[in-house]
This record gives sequence, structure tokens and C-alpha cells, in this order.
Amino acid sequence: MDGAREGTTVVVVGAGVAGLTAATLLHRNGIGCVVLERHTREHVEQRQRAGVIDFAAEQVYERAGLADRLLSGAPRSGLLEFRVDGETRLFDVAAHADGRVGRLIPQQVLVRRLVAAFLEDGGDLRFAAHDVALHDLDGDRPHVTYRDPAGSAHRVDAEYVAGCDGFHGVSRASVPADALTTYRHAADVGWFTVLTDSPPPAHPLIAVSRHGFAAHFGRGPGASRFYLQCPPGDDLASWTDERVWEQLRLRLADDGLVAGPVVDKALIDGRSSVVDPMSYGRLFLVGDAAHIVPPMGGKGMNLAIADADVLAGALVAAVREDPGPLRAYSATCLRRVWNDQEFSRWLSDVVFHGAAEATAGAFEWRLARARLARLLTSPVAARAFAALMAGTA
Ligand code: FAD
Repeated sequence: MDGAREGTTVVVVGAGVAGLTAATLLHRNGIGCVVLERHTREHVEQRQRAGVIDFAAEQVYERAGLADRLLSGAPRSGLLEFRVDGETRLFDVAAHADGRVGRLIPQQVLVRRLVAAFLEDGGDLRFAAHDVALHDLDGDRPHVTYRDPAGSAHRVDAEYVAGCDGFHGVSRASVPADALTTYRHAADVGWFTVLTDSPPPAHPLIAVSRHGFAAHFGRGPGASRFYLQCPPGDDLASWTDERVWEQLRLRLADDGLVAGPVVDKALIDGRSSVVDPMSYGRLFLVGDAAHIVPPMGGKGMNLAIADADVLAGALVAAVREDPGPLRAYSATCLRRVWNDQEFSRWLSDVVFHGAAEATAGAFEWRLARARLARLLTSPVAARAFAALMAGTA
């Protein structure tokens, strides 16, 4: 590609939580990096998805001296409500995790603060970078090409490329198919999620009843994200606003649930996937570019932060002539990835199978109810669950 040519140490593809965290940590350690983001700043700063960072992810920002800047005002998430057949059971996460609890922060707020922190520190972040393409990943000097918003071509030579561009990005797609193994699991249940301008719950709320699973999570002072179980391959058009609120009131056993404008609706196919290894030559895959976990357990954003932390540390070591941590990058991350996949799957099975006996089958329903009862009555089980939530297990 003709056009402007320049060099840096690391090109980071994608300015989501993974890319921004990796770039911020690299920049603060004096490692040159250029971040290329396909969308505009306005777009990435408004994209609402997750809403909680776990204790381990908070510690990443704490160690970097960024926690106050990024997480100020974000409340701790000390209690979790299970509503089982309409009956409230409060789970004291803080007590079972020795105070190691996560913080509630809407993903777009964290992204906004990461963008601001990176730019204020003098970071190089280029929005609306089109046609990003990765080259010579298996050589000593890879390069990345793209077009700026005016259509001009650019080339950035680098020593390493961090592929932080999510599940549908260009990074993983640039790796020869036979160089990665992809492990997949297709869920037998569909997820419907709806974002509303309506009051958040007093505590994150997971409801299980014969009417089906539903969950209610806060996304800031006047916003909520709900999840509802639905048949796989369900029709989004069938979820009218009226049906959404009717089903939520039924499944949450709350006739007084306050409705509000529906901002967004989506079907999530509930798939899980992991690529192994999470690297190819000088490309390192980070966050959703390498793995997808179902929403239950809230680990997607936290894995992205964990990967970014491991990669930034490994790249800093590599630049300082210690290649060991970078060689171990994939293995180091995959330990946490599989641990969180298992947690997410376990919790998904509990809430889905523990809901409608008719769809789960009599045996699975009883197993799920036994797991739920153990979680809510056994201190040993509760401690293990709280540690998984904290990201410390
Ligand atoms: P992303 O956030 O997807 O960021 C990737 C970035 O790369 C984006 O900015 C994208 O624009 C950019 N990009 C893509 N392609 C290119 C390209 N070719 N060139 C340049 N840039 C590119 N997780 C939880 O933990 N808890 C939840 O409750 C939760 N709820 C969710 C609800 C929904 C509706 C969805 C969709 C996801 C949810 N997740 C949740 C998952 C979580 O949002 C992701 O795991 C997280 O965003 C991963 O961060 P990431 O930085 O790896 O990827």
C-alpha cells in the first residue's frame, strides 16, 4: 500500500476495554504504541454492554495507579439478590469474599475514562481507521495498514501487534486457519437482552422461576440492563416493548417494576468459544478477539482487562530483553479463560435449567435446584462462588 509510513513498537488494533487497557499500560511504561479504532470516538464512548468489573480487574488499575481516575464514584457490588420462585435470597458477596468485591461501572463509562486518560497522557489513538489490515505477522517486523477518514493510506511498522478488535475483528481473521484451534460450545438456550432508561435494582438481581430466567442489572443511576431466557434462534420482532415488561414483571415476580423507554434490544446466541494459542507470530489476541463467554457471571469485560494486563507486562519485559513472559502469554491467559468459561457455564446451567422444568427436563431441573440450594446454604460453596465472582479463584 502506498502512503504515509511510520514506525512504533506496538500497534494495538481496537479501542475497546482490552485495547485501551493494553495501550494505557504500555504507554505508562514508556513503550511506543499506536491504537487504531474502526469506529468514531462518539460511537465507542456510547456503546453499552457490561456493567461490573471484578476485584481482579480493579487490581489491574490499582497497580497501575489508575483506579481513582477510572473508577471514581463506581459503587462496590457487595450483595447479589437471587429471587427463587418469587422469594428473595440475598447473597452476601462481600462477606464470603473477605471484602474482595467488584465495582459497578457501565462499560461505556470505563471506555470513556480510558480514552480520556490515554489521550491526556499523550497517547496516540486514531479513530475511524478504515480497512485495517495486518501484514507479515510471522516475520520480525510486522506492519499494519489502514485508511484515515479522508481516505489517505497509512502504514505503521511495528515489533508487535495486539489484536484487541473483538470477536468480529480483523486480527483473528488474519491468522492462517490451521495455526489456531477453536473450541466452541453452542448453548441450548437463547438470550434476549434489553437496555432501558429505568431505575436499576437495589442489588444485581437474578430471578429463577417456572416462568423462566430473568436478570436485572444496573447500568448507571437511571439505566438498567435486563436478560431473559428465550428459545434459541428466537425472533427479535416478537419482543415488543409490551411483552418485555409483561415478561419481566412475571419472571422477576415484581408487579411494581418501573418501566422506562427501551433503548436497545438484542438477541445473544449464548455461544462460548476459545482460540488456542492466543497468538500467532508477533500477533497477540486479547479479550473477545480470542474468546467469548456467555453473559452469566459477567466475565467478558474482565477477561479482556486480565489479558491486556498480562500482555502489557509481557511486552514490557520483551522490550527489556526478557522474552519469557511473552512466550508464556497464551498459556498464562488461557488458565483464567477456561476457569471463567467453566464458571459462566455453570451459572448459566443453574439459572436456565433451574427455571422451567418443562424445557430443562425433570432431572436437569432437580440438579440445578440442588446447585442453587447448595450455593445459598453452604458457606463452603458460597466462598468458592464469591472467589470466582471476584476473579481470585
Ligand atoms: P470490544 O469491546 O468488542 O472492543 C473491540 C474494539 O475493536 C471495538 O471498539 C471495535 O469497534 C474495534 N474493532 C473491531 N474491528 C476492528 C477493525 N477491523 N479495525 C479496528 N478496530 C476494530 N461482559 C461482561 O463482563 N458483563 C456483561 O454484563 C456483559 N454484557 C454484554 C451485553 C452485550 C449486549 C454484549 C454484546 C456484550 C456483553 N458483555 C458483557 C461482553 C463484553 O462487552 C465484552 O466481553 C467486552 O466488550 C470485550 O472487550 P474487548 O475490548 O475485547 O472487545
